[in-house]
Amino acid sequence: MSFLLPCPNCGPREVEEFRCSGEVTRRPKATPTLRELTTYIYFRDNAAGLHTEWWFHRHGCETWFLAERDTRTNEVARTWLPAASASGASEPSPSAVPEVPAT
Ligand SMILES: [Zn+2]
Repeated sequence: MSFLLPCPNCGPREVEEFRCSGEVTRRPKATPTLRELTTYIYFRDNAAGLHTEWWFHRHGCETWFLAERDTRTNEVARTWLPAASASGASEPSPSAVPEVPAT
């Protein structure tokens, strides 16, 4: 399956140029319970529809960025660098965007 993914630096490129690192996770509080920590490490929302995920442009500018993609159609609604929001769109809450992707 192929689709175009717009890199914030390079513009639209074939998805084969990128590596997906999964959906954005929410870090638990500083001293999480075992359940909170287990949920953070092992469970994902796996939404059927729009969700936000980490992407890496491995055959391009080698930049990590965020993309909002519909998992049913692979339609990409927007992409943006973690420090900035897409124009006209609300920025995800800081707790929803970790400093580095969880791998
Ligand atoms: Zn790029």
